Amino acid sequence: MSTSIVEIPDRVSAIQAWRAWKLQVTPMQKPSSIFRVLAEPKVELVSLNYPPKDIWPSAHPLEAQCLNFRSVDEEWDRLVGANHTIPDEHCTCGIYAVKSLAAAAHYGGIVGTVLLWGKVIEAIDGFRAQYAYPGTLYLSEENWKHRHSLKSIYNVECLPFPLLKRHPDWKEQGGGLTSSFMTAANWTPVNFFLSSSSSF
Ligand SMILES: [Zn+2]
Repeated sequence: MSTSIVEIPDRVSAIQAWRAWKLQVTPMQKPSSIFRVLAEPKVELVSLNYPPKDIWPSAHPLEAQCLNFRSVDEEWDRLVGANHTIPDEHCTCGIYAVKSLAAAAHYGGIVGTVLLWGKVIEAIDGFRAQYAYPGTLYLSEENWKHRHSLKSIYNVECLPFPLLKRHPDWKEQGGGLTSSFMTAANWTPVNFFLSSSSSF
């Protein structure tokens, strides 16, 4: 594999879509240190429904894998085969993302944009991609305290939920968003000030 293919592309050359993540927070303890209680927890983005647990790496793209090798049958082997490209049109593998903000919000967790590249298969409502990296993350009030950690780990923009209302997709799909999502989007972050340099 060439190294150039896994570099994280800029936002122009990659496909931008929406998805949702869980936040995995691991307490970091420094044994026999008086600073133990001051250690920052380790935070990571984790895919919602991917066994085994799929942790999104820092500063490197997540590369899709295919777990269907385990359940090979003759029909699958004839259509796809163990050496198929990932993702493959006849398989279900790939890193999933959806086109609509409303669909991503339906899953809950951390909602954000995601960059997709490599081989990308487009469906009606979304995509399956070979490589992916988080884009802009919209944090709930509960997760707002992790914004600095997320920014340093993934070098991504972290914005509070309410700013989703300024995204063009909100205007198009706001009616389809769940009531819990709308409620969450109304919180007022104490430390956030609208900036003229905002990308929206
Ligand atoms: Zn596959």
